[in-house]
Amino acid sequence: MTDDCLFCKIAKGEIPSKKVYEDERVFAFEDINPQAPVHIIIIPKRHIGGLNSLSEGDEAVLGYIQAAAAKIASQFQELKNGYRLVNNCGADAGQTVFHIHYHLLGGRTFGWPPG
Ligand code: AMP
Ligand code: ZN
Repeated sequence: MTDDCLFCKIAKGEIPSKKVYEDERVFAFEDINPQAPVHIIIIPKRHIGGLNSLSEGDEAVLGYIQAAAAKIASQFQELKNGYRLVNNCGADAGQTVFHIHYHLLGGRTFGWPPG
């Protein structure tokens, strides 16, 4: 937990969010500024700043998040034909919240390469 971390506060319920999934390790909620019909943020409850600040043992929760993303996606009819799971790492990639998170996006088709 980092005292002034927005996503730590959301995971603890100190800041309200529209929760879509929670278990002992992971919390998922609707993005406040959705970029697709379905746009969910998936975070580990334990604070990790980003991919560039992993500690030993953090790999497991990242794999766990991917499995959770598939579980969450299976509950949305809009995602039955596919979805995108995105991590933005660092300023050039557009990371604005430094508690690692994955965007689960779907309900429309996406271009490649991404913008
Ligand atoms: P990123 O730019 O990859 O760091 O993504 C941060 C995401 O968090 C953005 O898509 C924001 O819209 C989203 N976000 C920021 N504050 C909140 C909040 N209070 N509740 C839900 N989503 C948020
Ligand atoms: Zn945090």
